[in-house]
Amino acid sequence: MNPPAIAIDGPAASGKSTVARLVAERLGFTFINTGAMYRAVTWYLLEQGISPADREAVCAALPGIPLSFGKQGAVSCVLCDGRVLDAELTEESTNKNVSAVASIPEVRALLVAKQREYNRSEAVVMEGRDIGTVVFPDTPFKYFVTASEEVRAARRAAQGITDSIAERDRRDSQRACSPLVMASDARLVDTSDMTIAQVVDLIAQDIQDRMAAV
Ligand code: C5P
Repeated sequence: MNPPAIAIDGPAASGKSTVARLVAERLGFTFINTGAMYRAVTWYLLEQGISPADREAVCAALPGIPLSFGKQGAVSCVLCDGRVLDAELTEESTNKNVSAVASIPEVRALLVAKQREYNRSEAVVMEGRDIGTVVFPDTPFKYFVTASEEVRAARRAAQGITDSIAERDRRDSQRACSPLVMASDARLVDTSDMTIAQVVDLIAQDIQDRMAAV
């Protein structure tokens, strides 16, 4: 049996990444940001001049992609030819194209396999869009973190990030393969009127209570 996996899903700028990182710290688990994995593939394809709309070209490029998925301390990272990617992942062109790349089933199959590998040897808090529905459908620990569209847009603006989150959410929710949807057995956490600390306390406490009960 694998170690525990905590699934945290939700739309863009819902605060789930910060929350997931802090919950992982609190529990002593590894934090895995799966959005960074889709972003890294997107950045690399654009660097190679491959259009995300050209599914055949994307699939042909996948086996040779020089990306690897590692950790820095207890936090996931993506490396390209051994170099950790950072600013590349939030470039405007990456933001604009990531949903198109993430809608390609072959890309998802490759990354889901890598995501599950992280959990073979260690407990993880993993955040994304399909963690509770596809990556770890059997985990009892699923949270769907959201906030109103106005609050999410304000949070993105405060970070100084140009990112059309409404458009990304629309594409992520409407795609055929692993759309952004709340798992039927996930707990909904609306963070619109909560501080980060309150959300972290709520989720971490819920996990600890349920783990203690088994
Ligand atoms: O979480 P983040 O906003 O960085 O994710 C960037 C994009 O990656 C999402 O808009 C979505 O298209 C894709 N994604 C996904 N499945 C995941 C994580 C991210 O499709 N598990």
